[in-house]
Amino acid sequence: MTPALDTPVLIAGGGPTGLVLASVLAANGVNCLLAERNPSTTRFPKMDITHGPSMELLRRLSVDQELRRVGVASQFSFDVIFAPGLNGPEVGRWRLPSVDEQRAALAKSVDGSRPGQPWQRLSQALFEKVLMERCQRDPLIDVHQGWRLESCSEIDGAVEATLVGAGDDSTTVRAGYLIGCDGASSRVRNELGIAMTGAPEFTHFALVHFRSPDMANLHALGQFWHLFFTSGVAVIAQDEVDTWTLHVDLGPELSEEDPIGDPREFVLRALGRPIEITGVLASSIWRPTALLADSYGRGRILLAGDAVHTMIPTGGYGMNTGLGDAFNLGWKLAAVVRGWGGQTLLDSYEQERRPVGERNRDVSLENAVVHLQYRAMADGDLIMADSADGTAHRAALGEFLAANDGENLSLGIELDVRYDNSPIVCTPDGQAPPWDRRTFVPTVRAGHRAPNIVVGPDETLFDSFGPGFTLVDACRHPEAKRLVDGAVLSGIPLHHLVVEDSRCRELYENQLVLVRPDLHIAWSGTTVTDAAAIIERARGAA
Ligand SMILES: Cc1cc2nc3c(=O)[nH]c(=O)nc-3n(C[C@H](O)[C@H](O)[C@H](O)COP(=O)(O)OP(=O)(O)OC[C@H]3O[C@@H](n4cnc5c(N)ncnc54)[C@H](O)[C@@H]3O)c2cc1C
Repeated sequence: MTPALDTPVLIAGGGPTGLVLASVLAANGVNCLLAERNPSTTRFPKMDITHGPSMELLRRLSVDQELRRVGVASQFSFDVIFAPGLNGPEVGRWRLPSVDEQRAALAKSVDGSRPGQPWQRLSQALFEKVLMERCQRDPLIDVHQGWRLESCSEIDGAVEATLVGAGDDSTTVRAGYLIGCDGASSRVRNELGIAMTGAPEFTHFALVHFRSPDMANLHALGQFWHLFFTSGVAVIAQDEVDTWTLHVDLGPELSEEDPIGDPREFVLRALGRPIEITGVLASSIWRPTALLADSYGRGRILLAGDAVHTMIPTGGYGMNTGLGDAFNLGWKLAAVVRGWGGQTLLDSYEQERRPVGERNRDVSLENAVVHLQYRAMADGDLIMADSADGTAHRAALGEFLAANDGENLSLGIELDVRYDNSPIVCTPDGQAPPWDRRTFVPTVRAGHRAPNIVVGPDETLFDSFGPGFTLVDACRHPEAKRLVDGAVLSGIPLHHLVVEDSRCRELYENQLVLVRPDLHIAWSGTTVTDAAAIIERARGAA
């Protein structure tokens, strides 16, 4: 056994959630130890869309440009095509804009109803690589790749954990806090005895990640991001160069021990059209689930990401929700470690994030049902028929898909995240705008996500925010000073941002708005009756 290690925060799991959490802690000046059981980051593509609001958060870590550099080039659409096969006929298309097109649309959108940053196509393998290299470069993050967390418990006001490395070498870690970001089969969650409830594994998918430069055949229906066959086959364009992923729904029962066999043959059979394959990068069987943990942790041991919520990939909510957890928890943990955060801060993590995990899990299932209905509706013969009945059948499928196109058009899910009953949010006045899955109504109501707009070439209002709290002063109110003084007294990092631009003042309703480091509103108003009470609540000490 190697000697014990001491750290304020131990993170188990270096997937997207753990990597981002470590980065947020470091950005707030807090050390952590990141233990990842695998010696290298994932080779499996998995996540392939990072939503605009996640890109806004990642920009606060100054990692957005690097992710865009390695991700899919900005001119390519996010189009989703539905067809019986590569040869068509196309029965439906969700037209989804490229990064360039979305960026142009966001620049014209002046009402704050959209995120400030466009979305990004990017495989999880690349996302993890970029974030891991960033963590390795950061002197505040002690990265231990190839070390798995074996056991953990809370003892005498700290956490003790055992890590096991190569050759069964083991070490003990004493940490102020342990965060289990160790994925769907979380060891940390199991150690705490916390159950997951929802829709367990209900089918099997075969995945083959392969290289092919054969655009002539793969793009027979035109460029696409996702192509869904009626047979339960999906093709994902990973980089618009030569990398693709094939997913095949094999159903709840597997009839063969090795359903993929030769991955090349498997791809050719599934695509039904000969294509040139120049390499197989990975293949596996995976099982989607939609589950939520009964609790997000206990005491000094907390959980985040897939360790507390698993989702069907339809909509791309899994990692994006995990990033939301990491940004929510990261500043709170840092505040507690640095001494300015009160106890309620950590309690608020579950109160704020579990309802979001539950909602997104449920909507990922709703999205999946659309695909199941499309497949059930499609008649294999009629869809190909050169007849009036065939035309009518294809039109009916197209109408169904057009009427159910919310999978990647759900700003309500991606952006309208509200922490209504949070103990660290000041009780807002007035009625909240109604929640709607497809839209985001900008508001400065406490608990809601702060609104953002583009203010210049590659610049949004959020770029003027501080790394900690920001007091957006859209009314040049003399009482702002009382909040600034209160923050200084409590040690809260706060940037006082006086907004001059008339559009931004209007967007912030000519009020004073206290925005948290995770871009949620802690308080807003035009008079500061009790600055100390606002600050105490925002820092979890009320
Ligand atoms: C086909 C597919 C497509 C997807 N598409 C999207 C998408 O477009 N958008 C989206 O947001 N999400 C998507 N997802 C979901 C996304 O992949 C997950 O939500 C995301 O990986 C969760 O990140 P995580 O860090 O919480 O967990 P994980 O990625 O599972 O990472 C957990 C990490 O912990 C490590 N670990 C496990 N046990 C231990 C231990 N005992 N000690 C130390 N380390 C340990 C693991 O090795 C792993 O690196 C998709 C998933 C799939 C399968």
